[in-house]
Amino acid sequence: MAYCPIHGYLGEGGTCDQCVRDREEAEEAAEARAGKAAELAAEQTFLINNPGDYKCPHCLLKSLKRGARRCPKCHGEIGPWDEVYAREAEALKKQEEARTQKERERQQQEEIRKSRKRAQAAVAAERARKTRHICKVIFFTVAIVLMLRLICA
Ligand SMILES: [Zn+2]
Ligand SMILES: [Zn+2]
Repeated sequence: MAYCPIHGYLGEGGTCDQCVRDREEAEEAAEARAGKAAELAAEQTFLINNPGDYKCPHCLLKSLKRGARRCPKCHGEIGPWDEVYAREAEALKKQEEARTQKERERQQQEEIRKSRKRAQAAVAAERARKTRHICKVIFFTVAIVLMLRLICA
């Protein structure tokens, strides 16, 4: 019978199951740590190479701050930004239009829902009125019949 110095005596197999499990867990944790570190390093590298908000037309890195005259990475000259600004304004306008359109549709839906509800309420009121009328008619008919009976008796 073999002996594990950490977990005590073993079964017939000769290897300590607990030790095997511990080793596997340690390896998995190390792998996860390495993966995370690599991910962070890649992110860092990307940020260093792409410190801006706009793509440079020369080196194609995302290196330009808004309105930059020169790329900090490749030092290429950057032309006028008017076109970019116009594009951004256009996109913003489209976004705003889409939002307005959505709001309008929502209001229309709300209006339809309300008028449907009003119509339902009107139908219910009409039904109640008819029911009341029928009740009255029945009541008076019965009353008249009873009175006639009393008179004729
Ligand atoms: Zn062990
Ligand atoms: Zn560049």
